[in-house]
Amino acid sequence: MTALLSVENLSKTFTFRSGWFGPPQSLDALSDVSLSVAPGETLAIVGESGCGKTTLGRCIVKAMPVSAGKVVYRPQGYAPVELTALDKRAMKPWRRDIRMIFQDPMSSLNPNMRVFDIVAEPLRIHKVARGRALEEKVVEVLGKVGIAPDAIGRYPHAFSGGQRQRIGIARALVLDPKLVIADEAVSALDVSIQAQVLNLLEDLKGEFGLTYIFISHDLGVVNYIADRVVVMYLGHVVEDAPTETLFERPRHPYTEVLLEALPIADPTRRNKREKAVRGEIPYLGNRPTGCPFHTRCRFAEDRCRTDKPALRKVGQAEVACHFAESLELKGAYAEAPMT
Ligand code: SF4
Repeated sequence: MTALLSVENLSKTFTFRSGWFGPPQSLDALSDVSLSVAPGETLAIVGESGCGKTTLGRCIVKAMPVSAGKVVYRPQGYAPVELTALDKRAMKPWRRDIRMIFQDPMSSLNPNMRVFDIVAEPLRIHKVARGRALEEKVVEVLGKVGIAPDAIGRYPHAFSGGQRQRIGIARALVLDPKLVIADEAVSALDVSIQAQVLNLLEDLKGEFGLTYIFISHDLGVVNYIADRVVVMYLGHVVEDAPTETLFERPRHPYTEVLLEALPIADPTRRNKREKAVRGEIPYLGNRPTGCPFHTRCRFAEDRCRTDKPALRKVGQAEVACHFAESLELKGAYAEAPMT
């Protein structure tokens, strides 16, 4: 199936000075990242803090410029659009199609605006509706996320975290987008509220015909909502696989590390594997040579320290590891009787 959006060899480097007179330094936040999302798919991007997943989301919506590579959007009925080549004005129509939901609704919603204006603002900016039609649209979309019409005159602080996130979702959906990028959209919520918001996102996906890019560090959440998962480490894609495949048969040692951190409720199925990772995540400005994961990988060999593995097809996954075919890694749900 043709991708709705593809990211092709995208790199992002931040340059800065340490102190007033310090030498210029650079951080490679994204390095040659390629991925795609099909229409109607929920693609999760996972990894630890600093792996580049949020930077990637921001590059896709052009909240920041890229250093190299491109983002191509393929709207139905139109020729493909290279978003990264567009200036602010040319990008504006496509901002209706691609919207973002942020992690912390308290900081992403303007505390000085009433709920009505928060949700109506995108309609006004894009001149989509006004007057009575605008009011009806705002009330309609708030209703779809479970916010009653009598709430439109209140301010964000009057709502709980879950309700504020619903308002943020309404603001993202009011322009009838095609692609929604949810950046840690449920991370700030209590677990019970997380489930409600995830179910809401799932319902809205069907109702609005949405495609999601779901950025998260939480593999439990990802397992619940995603069709496919891209695992990132130090600004690189290290594995890209269907969700079920990734959880049952991870191919990259870093994916195994993430799965190992998942809590397992049944103690008789407790995973007895050797601790799969060592050391801290390296500083981005001092990126390891060869495989970016070699400083922490228990399978690292000499070749890993010099040769960077390319992403390549292994089974149903794409994996960046020299030994992906031969490593014996176990999934999150592998049986391992207690001894
Ligand atoms: Fe580990 Fe080597 Fe594979 Fe990198 S290439 S993940 S260091 S085994």
